[in-house]
Amino acid sequence: MSDLTTNLATLLPHLDRLAAQGVQNRIAGRRLPAASGQTFDNASPVDETHICQVARGDAPDVDAAARAAQAAFADWRDTSGAERKKILHRIADAIEARADEIALCECWDTGQAIRFMSKAALRGAANFRFFADRAPGARDGQALPSPTLMNVTTRVPIGPVGVITPWNTPFMLSTWKIAPALAAGCTVVHKPAEFSPLTASLLVEIAEEAGLPPGVWNLVNGLGEEAGKALTEHPLIRAIAFVGESRTGSTIMAQGAPTLKRVHFELGGKNPVIVFDDADLDRALDAAIFMIYSLNGERCTSSSRLLIQSSIAEAFLEKLRARVKNIRVGHPLDPQTEIGPLIHKVHLDKVTSYFDIARNEGARITAGGAALDQPGHYVQPTLFEGASNDMRIAQEEIFGPVLTAIPFDTEDEALRIANDVPYGLTGYVWTNDLTRALRFTDKLEAGMIWVNSENVRHLPTPFGGVKASGIGRDGGDWSFEFYMEQKHIGFATGHHRIPQLGT
Ligand code: NAD
Repeated sequence: MSDLTTNLATLLPHLDRLAAQGVQNRIAGRRLPAASGQTFDNASPVDETHICQVARGDAPDVDAAARAAQAAFADWRDTSGAERKKILHRIADAIEARADEIALCECWDTGQAIRFMSKAALRGAANFRFFADRAPGARDGQALPSPTLMNVTTRVPIGPVGVITPWNTPFMLSTWKIAPALAAGCTVVHKPAEFSPLTASLLVEIAEEAGLPPGVWNLVNGLGEEAGKALTEHPLIRAIAFVGESRTGSTIMAQGAPTLKRVHFELGGKNPVIVFDDADLDRALDAAIFMIYSLNGERCTSSSRLLIQSSIAEAFLEKLRARVKNIRVGHPLDPQTEIGPLIHKVHLDKVTSYFDIARNEGARITAGGAALDQPGHYVQPTLFEGASNDMRIAQEEIFGPVLTAIPFDTEDEALRIANDVPYGLTGYVWTNDLTRALRFTDKLEAGMIWVNSENVRHLPTPFGGVKASGIGRDGGDWSFEFYMEQKHIGFATGHHRIPQLGT
């Protein structure tokens, strides 16, 4: 990793280009402004300086993009899996070739630290390779013979799909949603988050330069309630893959109801890390810190509630406090930085509002608890202690570097507290008692659970949440289940008796 000065110097020409060109829509292979000619400002969370103007797409732009996706669908669907595999690998190669530019732009646009984002492009490329390799088998089905029929199943891509992504780690998340859609044979209209539009426009440009036919992947920038809403309501769009807040998920479900949209939702979380007194406490401490204070805490899978067994709570929390106070907040392009600025002033205000909420609810702030008095949306990593699970700081997704610690005495109590939230995305369990781990994970309400580990993603495994954290799963073959329709065909194997009416 290069130092701050080198990183800034490398980023500068890219920023100049962005400022000159602005971020446009991309429809049927053409860079286009919004039909209305309107734009919105994009500023960096680092120092609040202007980056560029962004096309403010709305219903007419979404309509043009949906028509382009529809027009490109039949050819892309009928392109052989082997050919789709080749093209997706070429996209991965091209992403890797521009990895530095992607990482630096992502940091500047989102405030994420380069120590985490330097791998973002490579992870994005890995997503493309993973689904590229599965493209040739995407249509595979089963043979289910019955006495009179040879029944076969196959899968066909559902059609043009809408992908709506949030502002946290936008590059990685966009590849995660779009690569399987393309591998399945769907065409795409992507609406990225208005707070962080830079890398989505790089990505579609890269894909087309790598040989993806025009119209297979279209990009419409804009606000959620304008471009996003229009996408969810468009009759040519067959399904919506959405990553974002739970509240937005229910709005999208309502918007999509009249056109019977299939939906896949990856939503919010208030995930517990549960530390029992028999655990490897040094490793548990490292993992608990990493899972809430990395990526600025702007992470759906963050362990934002620490459930700590009372017998070890004081010693554990003492070490935790010291470590949290030691976390380096700074410029995201400085490789030493562990926490960068939060995405936007609106989000900074939301996160810091929980400091007063915590005090008013009777919790103690034992580390952090303030924004930094300087330009940019910087906040101190923060720890709440003396909390109970009914407080808002334990129930609501804060989505910042803020951890709420809650003590418990027994395994039953830990389970009750862990499950007593509207969400159910991830859980992290620390114990060396194997039987307890099996018992506990069986009852823990979460789509993904790690035992004695932080979140380590393995692409063949299912990714998704339960309760208000989501509907559906990504990863492995599950992504294809969403982007494809099952089809059954029965072939008569002889002259079985057909009931005769009206004879
Ligand atoms: P958000 O819901 O505000 O916005 C997400 C996207 O939805 C944006 O592109 C936005 O423009 C769009 N949108 C907003 N209103 C819309 C509408 N009415 N119709 C259509 N689109 C609309 O979320 P955010 O603040 O950008 O992201 C943070 C949230 O995302 C957190 O809750 C986080 O937990 C969640 N998230 C979940 C996962 C997961 O895998 N479960 C991953 C990352 C982020």
